[in-house]
Amino acid sequence: MEQINYSNCPSCGSADISFQLSAKDYTVSGEEFPIWACRVCSLRFTQQVPSQAAIGRYYKAENYISHTDTRAGFINTLYHRIRKRTLQSKEQLLKKYTGLSAGRLLDIGAGTGAFCRHMKEAGWHVTGLEPDEATRQRAQELHGLALLPAGELFRLPAQSYDAVTLWHVLEHVHALHEYLEQIRNVITPGARIFIAVPNYTSYDAEVYRQYWAAYDVPRHLYHFSPQAMEHLLKKKGLTLEATEPMWYDSFYVSMLSERYKNGKAGYAKAVGVGFLSNWKALFNRRRCSSVIYVIKS
Ligand SMILES: [Zn+2]
Repeated sequence: MEQINYSNCPSCGSADISFQLSAKDYTVSGEEFPIWACRVCSLRFTQQVPSQAAIGRYYKAENYISHTDTRAGFINTLYHRIRKRTLQSKEQLLKKYTGLSAGRLLDIGAGTGAFCRHMKEAGWHVTGLEPDEATRQRAQELHGLALLPAGELFRLPAQSYDAVTLWHVLEHVHALHEYLEQIRNVITPGARIFIAVPNYTSYDAEVYRQYWAAYDVPRHLYHFSPQAMEHLLKKKGLTLEATEPMWYDSFYVSMLSERYKNGKAGYAKAVGVGFLSNWKALFNRRRCSSVIYVIKS
């Protein structure tokens, strides 16, 4: 299997990198992957990660949730219920920061298309990109959406989108720099980019350490802190305008983490950790389990 061994930080390029912890792939392979950290920009990243050509099989689990639409199981049910509610708040966020009630949206990593459909119904003109062919088909069946393959990003016309969204996507992208550069190309001057990623400096990440579900190795190539994200954005000529919390992620991630840590569901404990995590984030949004970065050029 082709794997990548970074000798420099994949974000800032520094050689000042070192081993941090080892995490296990609980969803698909059961394999362990080392997570390294950059001392300069504070990014953590998965080492010995499969190349883009080789990582496909690590997405093949029946229960890899963002790619399926199964409604079995408590956690899945909860996930789908909460997703409905978060669609509404994402729409509000786009309107608030773009100042538009409807505009042109590019959603990268659209999954089965729930957000694209929601925004379409809200009157937006929507382009959705999704790398997995079976998932694109599912989006067609479920929502009648014609999503485009991910590579189409590089064929989109310049300055043509008022909003670009990446909901838990950037941490999966091998071509990190190329993506951000092309996103910068396709946005209009007043546009906003919304990037949601997990935050390893959150309270729940601290509690669960190597069991923290949002490490999700090897699918998550990068593990951001707010500081690491800011460093990367600056390097790409982008400006961080605001950070917005994702309140539900702490509960969801804690529930999965409890299962990984103890081999069984620990709902009460997970709710407790999720609540404490949000409590801390209430006073400092940069500690939220997952953060939405609102970005302008
Ligand atoms: Zn770095």
